[in-house]
Amino acid sequence: MKLHEYQSKQLFAQEGIPIPRGRVAMTAAEARAIAEELGGRAVVKSQVLVGGRGKAGGIRLVNSPEAAEDAATQILGIQIKGLPVRKLLVDEAVGIESEIYLGLTNDRQARCPVLIASAEGGVEIEEVARREPGKIVRLPIDPLLGLREYQARYLAAAIELPREHWRDFIHIASALYRVFQRVDATLAEINPLVVTKDHRLLALDGKMVIDDNALFRHTDIAEMRDLDEDAPAEREARKYGLSYVHLDGSIGCMVNGAGLAMATMDVIELCGGKPANFLDVGGGAGAEKVAAALQLILGEPEVRVVLLNIFGGITRCDEVARGVLSAMPEVRPKVPFVVRLVGTNEEEGRKLLARAKLTSATSLMDAARKAVAAAQGEPLA
Ligand code: GDP
Ligand code: MN
Repeated sequence: MKLHEYQSKQLFAQEGIPIPRGRVAMTAAEARAIAEELGGRAVVKSQVLVGGRGKAGGIRLVNSPEAAEDAATQILGIQIKGLPVRKLLVDEAVGIESEIYLGLTNDRQARCPVLIASAEGGVEIEEVARREPGKIVRLPIDPLLGLREYQARYLAAAIELPREHWRDFIHIASALYRVFQRVDATLAEINPLVVTKDHRLLALDGKMVIDDNALFRHTDIAEMRDLDEDAPAEREARKYGLSYVHLDGSIGCMVNGAGLAMATMDVIELCGGKPANFLDVGGGAGAEKVAAALQLILGEPEVRVVLLNIFGGITRCDEVARGVLSAMPEVRPKVPFVVRLVGTNEEEGRKLLARAKLTSATSLMDAARKAVAAAQGEPLA
């Protein structure tokens, strides 16, 4: 789960990382009022869950409350990488001496967190990595020892940060590590961490990604989720406890079990087709869940055929069949279905589905072949 800039910076501030004064605005009038509180000069920043807002016109430096209102009106009217802007952060404007990058993530190969710093802050770190990989310093952190002071100092030296800022830098790096650990983040990034004209270090931008699998133990953070920012399909999927990932093929897949779903996608590809999604309806899926899953799949316009692959264990084939049937009147599919049902209550399931006009398959290979043929426009036998 991605956090907004203002949310990330709030978490940073709780650990003692200095951030600019500022507040969130939902309207241009609020933006104006906040700019007024801040003394007139301000930065109006779109709050959307993508990077590169600056380049896209989503960040404006203004000199007066009136200008803040104008900038806010404009920014609230644009989309950034397809996302409409609904919220703004209005921060005090600061004079910048230099911009550095400081981030923490997990290094899967090294199997530990890694602290990353660069003197080339302010631009996307991926871009620096491409252009000047030598300008990025990486420091693995032993999770049992945590970030040691000498490591942060080493990093400060490696990015040639002037010595007068080392104390603050060490303080900020340690705080970033603490918040990263505390909330089970997979990314905590300050870009840019600026040296201000009046010689302070300040986290001007913030980005955090929290491990979804850890949200159960961070209810306060789970509540920060911005439902407006999720694709509608993902929101629906979460509501029903479905694991759903949209892909760009044409064969909609409904499968129970993540492993079987992966195998189904592989066999589709083996037969020359492309899955339109990954969907695991989970074990013991009841009719309601199955119906919701079907709605999701058929809501994607690229889907030209649906492949239902159910291995009934705890999940009962007749329950799944009932779910499919109950969804039919509502979704009124215009595409054919290929169904492979095996396992618990398969006979009953098949009997139920025989009432609907579906193509049944005997094996996964058979099902995939039929689905691929249908996706290519061939009529199903
Ligand atoms: P991003 O483009 O989405 O990463 O947004 P950032 O918050 O990182 O802002 C992009 C750039 O805008 C920063 O690197 C700064 O150069 C500039 N910027 C942001 N806030 C201020 C500010 O208060 N004063 C000045 N002078 N520039 C700012
Ligand atoms: Mn940034």
